[in-house]
Amino acid sequence: MDKEKSPVQCDLCPHKCNLSQNQTGFCGTRRNIDGKISSISYGQVTSLAVDPIEKKPLYHFHPGTAILSVGGFGCNMKCPFCQNYSISQQGIEVSQGYVSPEEMLEFARRAAVKAGSIGVAFTYNEPFLSYEYLLDVVPLLKADGQKVVLVTNGQICQEPLKAVLPYVDAMNIDLKVFSEDGYKWMGGDFKTAQNTIEMSVKAGVHVEVTTLVIPGINDDADMMSSEALWLSQLKKDIPLHLSRYFPRYKLKTGATPVETLYKMQEICKEHLEYVYLGNV
Ligand code: SF4
Repeated sequence: MDKEKSPVQCDLCPHKCNLSQNQTGFCGTRRNIDGKISSISYGQVTSLAVDPIEKKPLYHFHPGTAILSVGGFGCNMKCPFCQNYSISQQGIEVSQGYVSPEEMLEFARRAAVKAGSIGVAFTYNEPFLSYEYLLDVVPLLKADGQKVVLVTNGQICQEPLKAVLPYVDAMNIDLKVFSEDGYKWMGGDFKTAQNTIEMSVKAGVHVEVTTLVIPGINDDADMMSSEALWLSQLKKDIPLHLSRYFPRYKLKTGATPVETLYKMQEICKEHLEYVYLGNV
């Protein structure tokens, strides 16, 4: 078979999409173009704003500061309750334009002067999908003294993760549910999320973890206790954010009762020093 016409595997995330010529992967951001996996989200920006660092959420990393926050489009999970679906489940049509790595550095410098920003947070959608862009932009930011923050679902394979970690100062990583079945329902992989948390902590990156607590999905006392125990074995003082779910996108389940959040917090505190509630 002609090499250009053979399917090519993308090894960035556990989906390992096998893509034929001009076919786009599950995430909507990577395509087989002329026999090569190409990033169609390279430098495409959907949002650019200066946010308090606590909004990422990061509570133990330069508290009280602000950070330039950048988002693109696409996601390699398909959570029916996605709180950010207007960019994560869309294609390039939602992009507001192209920002080169050098221009991003300029934006970061300006945000530092004007708003006291400490660096750049790649957030709002899954940042690892713009992998080649990240690899181009984060060394520039680091060389300039900017902090690099990633807010991620952790769905990335180990090899590509290893290459980025030396440039990352802090991450908020989702641990959406503590089960294989739960991750499958959301289009993700449990073990990969665990690996990403583990590898990032071991690499010395400042890591905080977020779980969106959803009735009937992950508000089981035993499941939550197992999650907190596993995290505590990795790092006793890892901050865990339990965030309140509200109905969005395809899931119609009612909002998480505030009492459930308090109960989950109590359970997690049996193992972890820092358990915060969000959206309450
Ligand atoms: S990054 Fe996208 S194209 Fe690559 S394996 Fe994952 S879902 Fe498929």
